[in-house]
Amino acid sequence: MHRLFDLTNVSLRLPEDSLLQPSWDFLQQHYQSSLRSPLFPVLLSVSTYLLLIALYTTLDLLAPSWPKINRYRIHQERHVVWPNIWRTLCLTTYNHLVFIFPAAVAQWLWRPPIPLPLKAPSLAAFLMGVLGCTVIFDFQYYLWHMLHHRIGWLYRTFHAVHHQYNDTFSLVTQYLSGWELFSVGLWTTVNPLLLQCHCLTTWAFMVFNVWVSTEDHCGYDFPWAMHNLVPFGLWGGVLKHDAHHQKPGTNFAPFFSHWDWLGGTAYSPPSPIVPIKDKKNKGT
Ligand SMILES: [Zn+2]
Ligand SMILES: [Zn+2]
Repeated sequence: MHRLFDLTNVSLRLPEDSLLQPSWDFLQQHYQSSLRSPLFPVLLSVSTYLLLIALYTTLDLLAPSWPKINRYRIHQERHVVWPNIWRTLCLTTYNHLVFIFPAAVAQWLWRPPIPLPLKAPSLAAFLMGVLGCTVIFDFQYYLWHMLHHRIGWLYRTFHAVHHQYNDTFSLVTQYLSGWELFSVGLWTTVNPLLLQCHCLTTWAFMVFNVWVSTEDHCGYDFPWAMHNLVPFGLWGGVLKHDAHHQKPGTNFAPFFSHWDWLGGTAYSPPSPIVPIKDKKNKGT
């Protein structure tokens, strides 16, 4: 009777199975040695972060004289100033030199080259892998974050540094203590291993994680921000994390809203963006 459900000999070749294969073949053919290097995931994460902070910081510097950018800022009347950019950039550079660079060198020395599978993941496995790693990361950070706010010693020693800025801007994303940076780096590395993700899925999760973490702190409510794309308020994103920096006892989860709903710590700030029509009516 088990034969009834035995699908091992049935070839269910859905079209999505091969959607990522051409891109994966191309990457393997042209960049195999770089992709196999244990340094690659670190370089990918660091370069994504540097690119994003360069982009957002340019917007921050243009915003005061460019109303079309400034209207998307959460705190339109308070601008990002050079001393804050330098200060956050200094700690970011320090963290990269003292923690990330040695960790990368250690990986390069002791980790063997990563074997690359010939087959690409199916699109469904790829998307579910990125989503699964993000959901787990969200829970891990929620717990870590809540504990580091509720226990005074943990807050003062490890997390207070991140709260030096009430108004966030992209460079605040990694304005972190070494312990917080290590915890975040560990979950980003371990979660794809837990879910046995394909390396393409792992790298996509790393890039996505840097993207949404930076978006949380960017200070802009753009129409393409994740909380505007994900329905039912499931994604907290930039507005809720900005509210956390204003009211630190609320919104502990970095991305999704459900843990704060369940834990009674959710706070939904009103959208700061005033539609252009309303602004005209008010004569501004
Ligand atoms: Zn933050
Ligand atoms: Zn916090």
